[in-house]
Amino acid sequence: DIAPRAYANEPSLWLGDFPWPEPGGHKYSRGHAVIVSGPADATGAARLAARGALRVGAGLVTVASPEDALSINASQLTAIMVRSVDGAKDLAELLSDTRKNAVVLGPGLGVGKAACKMVQAALESPAAVVVDADGLTSFADAPEKLFKAVKARQAPTVFTPHMGEFARLFPDLSPKEGGDPASKLDAAREAAKASGAVIALKGSDTVVAAPDGRASINADASPWLATAGTGDVLAGMIGGLMAQEMLDEAMPAFEAVSAAVWLHGAAARAFGPGLISEDVPEMLPDVFRELL
Ligand code: AMP
Ligand code: MG
Repeated sequence: DIAPRAYANEPSLWLGDFPWPEPGGHKYSRGHAVIVSGPADATGAARLAARGALRVGAGLVTVASPEDALSINASQLTAIMVRSVDGAKDLAELLSDTRKNAVVLGPGLGVGKAACKMVQAALESPAAVVVDADGLTSFADAPEKLFKAVKARQAPTVFTPHMGEFARLFPDLSPKEGGDPASKLDAAREAAKASGAVIALKGSDTVVAAPDGRASINADASPWLATAGTGDVLAGMIGGLMAQEMLDEAMPAFEAVSAAVWLHGAAARAFGPGLISEDVPEMLPDVFRELL
């Protein structure tokens, strides 16, 4: 019952749908991504994600920041706006402005009830939602609650777990470490079907799987990506592409997530050895020049 369609993740899979800027475009026609920041001692992840979102072409990026982290976020960001958001109610209000058409949350968020409420508020909004890291782990006790909220919405939802986060959310589907690569593909597909979300199951060979059964497998990402913060950059890149996708539906979620995963790997490859997470967004212009 799952369509047997697995593709190599290559530009030909998504390049035709890529939201290149239009000659007559303006920042409001290129999407507005919101990135939710953690508290004062965990703000770096949101800033990495925000730069990822800008570099893939989102017209506007807002970092939604708890009060105690406002000044550190504001002092570290330039083109990125900062708004005070303390808790789920504030987030719901921010996202009630339908021009904010994608939201990324989880990196640096902390694990617990408050994080669950933030994710739920995002899922109740009309925005595209990318849930990563602590946003996923917070639902380890009640994954069905998360999946139900995803299935109730119209806009696309993306989960970006690494293997550990995946195992907590989908304990029955978890492929064995170092196991058969086919089982990682099957696991991601089953998880997409069970949750209603597009899944990017990360690692050296990131699998993107959609609820309709399509999947892509990304090869050749640089092993230098195995460093702190690169996953946060990827979540932001996905959010930045989803924000653009939501405007004209030019690029469906499966293609947008596959594109972000490939661009992330290519940027790291282009940088070469010694890569750290903040280098990934800075390499994207070189990668885009090669694709044009
Ligand atoms: P995270 O686990 O959230 O920090 O994300 C790490 C990012 O680096 C993901 O995009 C992974 O796919 C990528 N990554 C981690 N290890 C490797 C590896 N050995 N080779 C290629 N990419 C990797
Ligand atoms: Mg991560």
